[in-house]
Amino acid sequence: MSKLTLYNTLTKQKEEFKPIADNKVGLYTCGPTVYNYAHIGNLRTYIFEDILRRVLEYNNFDVEHVMNITDVGHLTDDADSGEDKMEKGARREGKSAWEIAEFYTQVFKENLVDLHITEPKIWCKATDHIPEQIELVQKLIDKGVTYETSDGIYFDTTKIDDYGKLANLKNQELKEGARVDMGEKKNPHDFALWKFSPEGEQRQMEWTAFSRQGFPGWHIECSAMSMKYLGEQFDIHCGGIDHVPIHHTNEIAQSETATDIKPWVKYWMHGEFLLLDEGKMSKSADNFITLETLKTRNINPLAYRYFVLQAHYRKQLNFSWEALEAAQTGLNRLYETVRSWQNEESKIGCAEYEQKFLDFINDDLNISEALALMQKLIKSDYPIHAKKATLNKFDKVLGLGFAELKEEAEIEIPVEIQTLLDERSQARAEKNWGESDRLRDEIKKLGFEVEDTGDGQKIKKI
Ligand code: AMP
Ligand code: ZN
Repeated sequence: MSKLTLYNTLTKQKEEFKPIADNKVGLYTCGPTVYNYAHIGNLRTYIFEDILRRVLEYNNFDVEHVMNITDVGHLTDDADSGEDKMEKGARREGKSAWEIAEFYTQVFKENLVDLHITEPKIWCKATDHIPEQIELVQKLIDKGVTYETSDGIYFDTTKIDDYGKLANLKNQELKEGARVDMGEKKNPHDFALWKFSPEGEQRQMEWTAFSRQGFPGWHIECSAMSMKYLGEQFDIHCGGIDHVPIHHTNEIAQSETATDIKPWVKYWMHGEFLLLDEGKMSKSADNFITLETLKTRNINPLAYRYFVLQAHYRKQLNFSWEALEAAQTGLNRLYETVRSWQNEESKIGCAEYEQKFLDFINDDLNISEALALMQKLIKSDYPIHAKKATLNKFDKVLGLGFAELKEEAEIEIPVEIQTLLDERSQARAEKNWGESDRLRDEIKKLGFEVEDTGDGQKIKKI
């Protein structure tokens, strides 16, 4: 049996994964800030975390997975200046901060379903956990590691001797310190635990605490909620790579100081970025691509999942429409093969392949090698029923939906539908996506659904 090894950002090496207690795993994944759609870069991180969870479960661990919803306190600048992203989003849309939080939370949950991302066992919203956050800030005040400025309560990072250990900040401190606008902060890396509402201004989301109106800092949310649901020490904490130097660094400082338990989290794991035109895809830049964008271009969300799985989670991945379309073509081919296996049934798979698959996924989630192995399996000389049994096993981790595929019944296409299909094929050849969508809707009104596959348009009766 191969052992599960994972790369730990804290120790900067691959380590054998051993949970704190028995085979139970406490897993906390930083969730979305719900002021806008998630872009496909954000979704890459959630796909990586889903693979992690599935691999843990494939290894028979019992995973308690918690994900937060950040619906207050995340400022436009990851340091402590700037506006609350929620209030800014609300103004942009002419709605209340509560309304946009509700709306984008729902869209996010739908995105997860479309991408076959397993739902966390526990969702927790920051605004539902204000008392827990106030209590944690109070604990830190009592420990004497905080100070107050005119705009909030800050953590004094010089009061602890291992601040920045996750990101090796010591080496960078001098360089960065010079560039940070400190405001009233005493040290460049000090961060807000709690912010006061600006004088004379009524925020939509604010609470009375520490004798004033105010709201939590983004980092305190994750510390308070993860500890509430997973205990003062737990196994794995994840997020995107950008969380290493600030968000997770600050979560560690405040949690370990509050409890005196070290390490607070045993394994820290981070997903690398999806890049667009070699640059970072960012929600604030307003040029982001969402799952909806993909759908309007007839890309199956699972083709995006397949595209993402082809790169290791610790490597940057460049997005391009060509690469995504190639992934869709490849996935459709796989679907066709699996559909042609429809009448084969077996419980006995190919042990040799299953062992190799386990070796790959247990080697720090080497999914790209596991995918290459899957292709080899399909081409192998094993009987089809055995290949199918093994592929369905692999899909417990890959989540590409092989087991759910249904055979397409042969259907007769009426002449008027065929004409529309031909027009649509022409529109797509000319990259006229608007016309292509219009024709798809027209075909839908007539009772048929079009799917774009590597071999052109496929149609089914609704
Ligand atoms: P946010 O909703 O901004 O808090 O981000 C949600 C998650 O997406 C976080 O774990 C981020 O680290 C991650 N993330 C942000 N941008 C990217 C990107 N371009 N590629 C991959 N992950 C990202
Ligand atoms: Zn977080």
